[in-house]
Amino acid sequence: MLTASELFKIGLGPSSSHTTGPMKAARRFVGWLLDNGYLQQVSRIETRLFGSLALTGIGHHTDRAILLGLSGFTPQTIAPEQVDELIASIEASGKINNDNGTAFDFERKRDLIFDTKVNLPFHSNAMMFIGFDRNNNELARRIYYSIGGGFVVDEIEAGRNQVREAHADMPFQITSSADLLRIAAQQNCTIAELVMANECALATRDQIEDRLDKIWDNMQDCISRGIRRKGLLPGGLKVRRRAADLAQKLSNTNHNEGHKQERSDWLSLWAMAVNEENASGGRVVTAPTNGAAGVLPAVIKYYLEFVEGAGKHGVRTFLLTATAIGGLYKRNASISGAEVGCQGEVGVACSMAAAGLAAVFGGSNEQIENAAEIGMEHNLGMTCDPVGGLVQIPCIERNAFGAAMAVQAARLALLGDGKHHVSLDKVIQTMRETGRDMSAKYKETSKGGLAVNVVEC
Ligand code: SF4
Repeated sequence: MLTASELFKIGLGPSSSHTTGPMKAARRFVGWLLDNGYLQQVSRIETRLFGSLALTGIGHHTDRAILLGLSGFTPQTIAPEQVDELIASIEASGKINNDNGTAFDFERKRDLIFDTKVNLPFHSNAMMFIGFDRNNNELARRIYYSIGGGFVVDEIEAGRNQVREAHADMPFQITSSADLLRIAAQQNCTIAELVMANECALATRDQIEDRLDKIWDNMQDCISRGIRRKGLLPGGLKVRRRAADLAQKLSNTNHNEGHKQERSDWLSLWAMAVNEENASGGRVVTAPTNGAAGVLPAVIKYYLEFVEGAGKHGVRTFLLTATAIGGLYKRNASISGAEVGCQGEVGVACSMAAAGLAAVFGGSNEQIENAAEIGMEHNLGMTCDPVGGLVQIPCIERNAFGAAMAVQAARLALLGDGKHHVSLDKVIQTMRETGRDMSAKYKETSKGGLAVNVVEC
């Protein structure tokens, strides 16, 4: 199982797999050079990007993320407003200064290679870093994979599938939704309590609750910033930010007393506000990815605004429940659009949010599992075809629909008794197989779907 902090990472837009992951990988390579005694001899680092990273990396700011990672920044330590100035300074000086006190020469054309012809076998989001000395002799090379949601593995970990073996010291080893339901029944607890018990093996309850509160604070701040900002999103598509105008229109209605349609309009607005922030390279929380970052915050806000008795404890329950569900997708399928299409991003976010909402509505564990299953079942096969390689069209609106479906899924599950035909495990398996069968055109390459039928201007 993953912890909530591992799944909900505070980072930068626009993409967890194409921005957060590559930044972490570049930083890891510098750390590896240091640990292995190469760093002082390295005068430049060549980065080769393959697969989806090569095809959509520019639109997803992968190049900028690599430079920031080589400089020693993490997605948590870099402030969004610092980024433009830092990149401009690297390009102008031809030097990347890193936090170990050394510097690398940099020439964009020579040192950042987008190899669109090559796909490495383990994952479409592959990158290779090569260190050279001042005589241009190669000293060391390493391959890393950004496997979705900001998670990174090197070639050795990829071979061992190491990421799936994390946290063997947790008391409850949960590898399926069947395990989740069985162990929770044995322990006579909710799914959220089970996740908390596991996390308590790694940190104190106070620390875990603080982290959960911080995750929600960051989500909430992101909604607020998204609602305030106007203008065009970067990247050249000239997509206009809509959240601010929508908020203006809706703010004249008293939404606590408003009818259901107004509630769903607010839900759309909150999801879009987050994803507009994400598209502009702002501070977001991966949930479970950046492209799908709007669904959970919108549904949590929906709960806080429209459900009587809602509060901080419920938000924690929501996040812990969603962690259990997201962890199952991460373990048994994928949360990477480049691997399984958008069903793995917005589809998973919808499933996680449906489970979280069912939990705070007081649903049984079986109803929560049912909500998660419904949340994915009707997103199966959803493709990833971002126009211009930017996380804008269809991504921003898609989060609004993911949030709406999550609310519906939770409500539908709560109308039943938790008994249902398709288990969450079966739907996760189906998602994985559907993703595997899906043409590469529809997996974050911008070579099919809307990406080829919508003219960029
Ligand atoms: S279409 Fe979906 S998976 Fe693809 S970039 Fe947009 S949000 Fe991510």
